[in-house]
Amino acid sequence: MPLKPLASLAGELDAVAFRQALLGWFAANARDLPWRRTLDPYHVWLSEIMLQQTQMDRAVGYFERFLARFPTIMSLDLAGEDEVLKLWEGLGYYSRARNLRKAARVVMERHGGTFPRAHEDIRSLPGVGPYTAGAIASVAYNEPLPAVDANVLRVFSRLLDMPEPVSEPASRRRIEAAASELLDPLNARGFNQALMELGALVCTPRKPHCPACPLASFCMAHRRGTAESRPVLKPGPEIIRINMACGVLASRGRFYIQKRRPDDVWPGLWEFPGGVLEEGETPEQALVREFREETELRVAPAGKIAVVRSSYTRYRITMHGFFCRMDADLDPERAFRLNEATEARFVAPSELSRFAFPSGHARLVAKVLTDLRLDSLLSAL
Ligand code: SF4
Repeated sequence: MPLKPLASLAGELDAVAFRQALLGWFAANARDLPWRRTLDPYHVWLSEIMLQQTQMDRAVGYFERFLARFPTIMSLDLAGEDEVLKLWEGLGYYSRARNLRKAARVVMERHGGTFPRAHEDIRSLPGVGPYTAGAIASVAYNEPLPAVDANVLRVFSRLLDMPEPVSEPASRRRIEAAASELLDPLNARGFNQALMELGALVCTPRKPHCPACPLASFCMAHRRGTAESRPVLKPGPEIIRINMACGVLASRGRFYIQKRRPDDVWPGLWEFPGGVLEEGETPEQALVREFREETELRVAPAGKIAVVRSSYTRYRITMHGFFCRMDADLDPERAFRLNEATEARFVAPSELSRFAFPSGHARLVAKVLTDLRLDSLLSAL
């Protein structure tokens, strides 16, 4: 039986016509993505976690590599943290990878290795918030739950032509209520994925492609000519620029690396010692000071490797990377201390790729391995 037009939350939208237009467009335009070829809840869960902070195109390779190495929840549960982080290297927001491991443990202990079906059980897994739980339940099990991610927020802010910032709790509640009203109760799986896909391909952040949009006739912002000024966003946090220096210390053909503390930024990842430049310091001076503070080793710069730029939340980091050598007649492999790390190793260049580094250090590793001075440096130290 056709539904009546929705009166309150979604305005006067005809829900049936809305669903038909959206699902018809999705059937013709959905991208062929590896997690869409299966309804396995483990695959759906993994894809939703990866896509929380990562573009679709970029997530595909990571998703395939992760599943090739950990084809089951049990295999993920048995994995070491280092190996999981290594497969996540470059995706950022590493708490997602750590929570996947923790959640795999919960699935093994509480659910006998089978991914849970009840919404509240999914919601209680580490790293699974309300949006992700709705997305997994609707995509894997076709549960009639809305899944409002950033794409869907944007689409609804335009459909409803909302002048309020979408980050306001009241805006979010209004959008979730509208998404619930319009949701196709028999095909929540298709409906939620179609809305996300529309946000990714058509109702894009800048310059939405309204002439190609299946929802144009339902869209208030399109009708009023306000689509490009929706969603209204609150000003973001201030960008902070940081200058850092770090040192790649060689000893007997191997490099010193250390593992970051669990209470620090990027916990459990590996790095070369270093830190933020203090006022008036040169990168070389900061490198020497940081190395001493972190390891109690006295080193001297032995040539710049590269300047590497990276971003972390609101920080824009410029990192000056140096080769360095011992500045005293000491064996660094015996003399180092762990003042800022939980573990340290001296590893051959060929072994560096086995360890997970934050993105700035990972790019420095790539520079080190292609540096023409590498062989002569390693044979001299
Ligand atoms: S008509 Fe334009 S603004 Fe409205 S939903 Fe479609 S793409 Fe977005």
